[in-house]
Parts: sequence; structure tokens; C-alpha cells
Amino acid sequence: MELRLYDTLTREKRVFTPLNPANVRMYVCGPTVYDFAHIGNARPLIVFDVLFRLLRHLYGEAHVTYVRNITDVDDKINDRAVRDFAGLPLNEAIRKVTEQTEKQFHEDADALGCLPPTVEPRATEHIAEMRELIEKLVAGGFAYVAEDHVLFSPQAMNAANSVLPRYGALANRSLDEMIAGARVDVAPYKRDATDFVLWKPSKPGEPSWPSPSGIRVEGRPGWHIECSAMSWKHLGKQFDIHGGGIDLVFPHHENELAQSCCAFHENRMANFWMHNGFLQVEGEKMSKSLGNFVTIRELLADWPGEVLRLNMLKTHYRSPIDWTLKGLEESSKILDGWYDFIGDCEPAPTSDHSFVEALRDDLNTPSAIARLHQISHPPVAGRMMAGVTMLGDRTGTDAAAHLKSSAILVGLLLPTNSERKAKNIATSGVDSSAVELLLAARTAARARKDFKESDRIRDELAAMGVVIKDSKEGTTWEIAR
Ligand code: AMP
Ligand code: ZN
Repeated sequence: MELRLYDTLTREKRVFTPLNPANVRMYVCGPTVYDFAHIGNARPLIVFDVLFRLLRHLYGEAHVTYVRNITDVDDKINDRAVRDFAGLPLNEAIRKVTEQTEKQFHEDADALGCLPPTVEPRATEHIAEMRELIEKLVAGGFAYVAEDHVLFSPQAMNAANSVLPRYGALANRSLDEMIAGARVDVAPYKRDATDFVLWKPSKPGEPSWPSPSGIRVEGRPGWHIECSAMSWKHLGKQFDIHGGGIDLVFPHHENELAQSCCAFHENRMANFWMHNGFLQVEGEKMSKSLGNFVTIRELLADWPGEVLRLNMLKTHYRSPIDWTLKGLEESSKILDGWYDFIGDCEPAPTSDHSFVEALRDDLNTPSAIARLHQISHPPVAGRMMAGVTMLGDRTGTDAAAHLKSSAILVGLLLPTNSERKAKNIATSGVDSSAVELLLAARTAARARKDFKESDRIRDELAAMGVVIKDSKEGTTWEIAR
């Protein structure tokens, strides 16, 4: 069966046919590195990682190129550098902020089970390409220089009689609507209210680079041109998929599309534009002022990354998602159930057919997860047959192996139970030798029938976040989640 994906530009689910199946190309807008990423930022990270994994599954690992950039030039970065490293020269302070944030971001992405993208370009390493694009746009009459800025003119784009798409097509808005909605205090150097910045002069001390021709002072790029330059450099003028959160549709993606198509006189930039829906927390928009702003890092202190990942994938990527504690608890239970079901079995070489079918249908992860649930809860009537657990025509071990390999396909980690236990202990901060000592004391108390003392020790362990299980073989323990 084919892969079908929803395209924001044409507003329909279409069969995905790669421009070149030997090199399927995807670009996703990455983080602006100035602070810890929040759980909303984790959504595109996880969603497009699932798509990356699915594409690798369908076309072969060596045949997919995933580019996710790092925006390391931005006012927010400069502000943070001034705030956190006031004593340092600005450029040095900026380097500290971006390096530190990038490291945190990689650690978070790792903990969420996301594969590194094939290429992770930095904006500051692609200034030459940005300048080249800007000069093409000026030469083509789509952009102009004014007061040391370069501005892109959507009106010029829509007036051009050519193959170009219409400015506003992605966001599904008309230029007239945008003009009417434009703010009154439009910068004086703009010819039209809808014109946007490709390049601007740097303030003294700020990072700066030689400007495109026609401007003598040094400057820096606007945000939108960065992605046009990096996607061009690493994926070419046209590629298969461009992704990001729904908030990026306008103006960021609309402007990227305009820049790239006008610079190269092409009718399209990406074949599919994909956008994840927004995430809110406990029914409210996440914001620092509401006090419900939550970073990936804070959540990782309480939950394993795989619980966060499963919790994200329980909702279809295009729907809004309400991130709740209740949802996290449920996801944790589901994972526990799967671990119990698979035990330490080896994954099967192929994953479950219905599971992959669900993913091929515009990344229908809720349906794929429901399928895993079905595998781990075989119908009662089929469960016992001559002492072997059956699922349809499969034995229990077979089903467990399929569950495992399917879950691995979408990066729901699923290491072995023992690996998982070790990982939980490592991240819990619990001292395992202290636990062993208490357990020995409890065993001794039970041997002398001092049940008051053995209960007290069990409670003490529970307070440390440790649960114990007594069986014929002895007592085992693990971190409560
Ligand atoms: P930013 O650093 O704000 O540019 O965001 C990085 C990525 O996270 C972009 O793809 C955004 O669309 C996405 N994003 C930001 N906030 C949310 C949210 N609350 N829900 C879903 N995606 C988000
Ligand atoms: Zn971008």
C-alpha cells in the first residue's frame, strides 16, 4: 500500500511519490537556540522523527535525507546573551548561549528517542547562500534595497506573470486581506505594508556579515531567508517534504516558499507541506505568565522519555493536543503493559502489517497504537490453546515479537525489561546499594517474624520511590513510575 500524506498547500491527503525514491528529502524548521525547549517544541521533534523512521522503513535507511536546521542568529539569542553573560563581549556571550542551548536540545531529543537528522545545518554557516539568494531576488525584481535593508515584495511576486505560485496560497489568504490586516505603524523603509525583511543592518557589537551588493554597512539575515538557503544547500531547489508546527505556516513558511520559488523561478519549493497541531497544557495555552510553561527537561525529571513520546503519539499529529498529567499516567501504564507482554523476547524481523498500514495513512499513530493494544490484549477466546497463548494464528511469543518490532519502528524505545529497569534506576537518583541493604534487613526481619519491622522497611522503600515484589524466587525491586 502507498503512503498518503496531508499537504497544507493543496489541503488534501495525497499519495506520496518521492521526486527521487533513491533520495527522499525532508526539511523541518529547527529550534532557535536561546533557552530550554518546551513540551510544545517536542511535538514537531517527535512527529517528524516518526515520519523520518517510516520513510527509512519504506525507502531504505540510506535513501532518506532529513535536514533540521539550528537557528543561531536571532534577537532572542542576543537578548539572552546580554542577560546571562553581561561581562563578555556580545559575540562571545552569544556563542556560549547557542552552544549551551544546542547541547541541551540534543540531550532532550535523544531522551525522547529521536534519531539525529541526516544534516543539522546552522544558519550562521550559510550566510553566503543567503546573500546569493537575496541578490537573485533583487536582480529578478522581487526584492529591493532601502535604508540598508533588503525587502521582499509579495506584490511584485503576485504581479509577475509566470509559473510562480500565488503569495498567500499556503496560508490560504489573499494579499488584499493581508494588506488590510497589516499594522498601521509600518516601517518607513517598506514600500508596502506586506513587504518583509530579507536582510537588515546590524547594531554595533551585534553579529554582522558583509551585506548583499548595494549595501555598504554590514548586516544580518532575516529569519525566513535562513531556511530557504539551508534547504537549497542541502536538499536542492525542490524537495519532497517541508515540515514544522502549524504556527509556522504564516508568515514563516509562506515567506520561505515565496523566496525560494522567486529566486529559482520554480512553481514549488516542497511537494508536501506538513504541519503539526498545537499543544496546550491542562486545557490552557502554555505561557510563562500562566505558570503552566513546562520544559522537556522538567518532564524528563519525572517521566522516562518513552512515556512522553507515547503520550505525544496517542493524538494524531494534525489535531490539537491537550497535555495532561492524567494522559501521562495512562501512557506510563500502557508502556508497562507492553513491557509485561513482551518480556525479554527478541523483535520479529518484520513489524505488524496493520500497524504499518495505519502509519501509511497520514501517520495515523492513534490507530497504530490501538493496534499495539490489540496485539497485547488478544481476545480471551483465542488466548489459551493447548497451553500456548494465541492471537489469531499467532502464538503469544510471535505476537510479542511483532509488538516489539512495531514499537521499535516508531522509536517507542522498548529496550529489554532489564535495560529499562537499569535506565529507570540510573535516572531516579535512588542509591541501589542503600536499597539492597534495606532489603536484606527486611528479609532478616521477616525471617524472625518481625512483620512490623518488615512493613516499616517496605514503607521506607516506597517513600524512596522503590516498589518491591515478593515471589517464590525471592524479592525483586524496581523504581515506581
Ligand atoms: P520555535 O522555537 O518557537 O520556533 O518552535 C520550534 C518548533 O516548535 C516549531 O516547529 C513550532 O511550530 C513548534 N511549536 C512551538 N510551540 C508549539 C506548541 N505549543 N505546540 C506544538 N508545536 C509548537
Ligand atoms: Zn524554517
